[in-house]
Amino acid sequence: MKQTILPGSTIGVLGSGQLGRMFAISARRLGYRVHTYSPDRDSPTGQIADVEMDAAYEDLDRVREFASAVDVVTFEFENVPAATAEAAASRALVRPAGDVLHTTQHRLREKTFLRAHGFPVTRFEAIRHAGDLARVMPDFGPAILKTAGFGYDGKGQYRVNTLAEAEAAWEAMARQEAVLEALVDFEAELSVVGVRGDGGECAFYVPSCNHHAGGILDVSFAPGPFGPHVAAEAIAITRGILEQLNVTGVLCVEFFMRHDRKLLVNEVAPRPHNSGHLTIDACVTSQFEQQLRSICGLPLGSTEMPRPAAMANLLGDIWSCGEPRWEDALELPDIKLHLYGKSDARPGRKMGHLTTTAPSASIAEQLVREGRARLTP
Ligand code: AMP
Repeated sequence: MKQTILPGSTIGVLGSGQLGRMFAISARRLGYRVHTYSPDRDSPTGQIADVEMDAAYEDLDRVREFASAVDVVTFEFENVPAATAEAAASRALVRPAGDVLHTTQHRLREKTFLRAHGFPVTRFEAIRHAGDLARVMPDFGPAILKTAGFGYDGKGQYRVNTLAEAEAAWEAMARQEAVLEALVDFEAELSVVGVRGDGGECAFYVPSCNHHAGGILDVSFAPGPFGPHVAAEAIAITRGILEQLNVTGVLCVEFFMRHDRKLLVNEVAPRPHNSGHLTIDACVTSQFEQQLRSICGLPLGSTEMPRPAAMANLLGDIWSCGEPRWEDALELPDIKLHLYGKSDARPGRKMGHLTTTAPSASIAEQLVREGRARLTP
């Protein structure tokens, strides 16, 4: 059913981090009001929102109260419990729907879903019982053991080569449900951000090339150097996943590209993604405005990127020698600084990012790296 939520309406965001902040900035620009719900106060999203409600995700009365005051609920944090999404749905439209969250917030459910629908994934096995590792490990070469639930940014992951290492890793994760995944010898990592409107229409950004450091995204640049066939295949897979999951909203698919250029889906996130932050400064419509347009039933915007672009994450580590030298980076006139309003700069915490556009993606990449290097002595 087509339902249009016009400017002047109120959007509720479950979660209050930087993704909600950048969404709220876009929504405010288009004249919407924003309410945010999370256990935190003075949060990145709350600093921009009209109303910041701080309560536990498990407090379903407060969730219903929150949802009653808004016209549509979306989320920026995919580990919102299923019961929270259900409670919100009893009072307001929730987009994407709670079952999309349920599938994608759990690695095993997500990978099982992808494999069952014919999407290419790396070989994996569920680890639930003491005998599972001994049974499957002999057939695996180098592998990664990952917790099935609540994992992101490489947290809860162990590289393992032998049964003894795998057993030690499973002990270290308190024997919780896990996925054993074959280690992929990839040539590159890429991602596609796609959006699907409530009439089923889709739009896609050009694939970006992603470099990770310590399991956390470090630098993205777009267009990635993959050629038209790989780009078209990545977009076709993303479209298929958006359709199979029946998403109304934004979804990002992260891929590994093997040396034979075959793509494997690594992860799916049913929301704007860190690798899409460069769309704010580089594209006609940002991934956050697309999220707004899709959940409000408005026409999708153009994903065109007039110039190649790059983004470098700023983690809390950059603060280890004191306040970063912002002026030195901003002396480069094409550098754009985004900070998330977080006061506690812990190592590994995403505090902000730099973006730039340039005549080529590799020049853009060099520029953001140079900008970031200038921040520290
Ligand atoms: P994830 O949290 O699962 O996206 O993992 C974070 C990063 O760890 C990925 O972007 C890769 O750089 C690396 N990684 C995760 N799984 C694998 C795998 N099966 N093979 C090789 N590298 C991986």
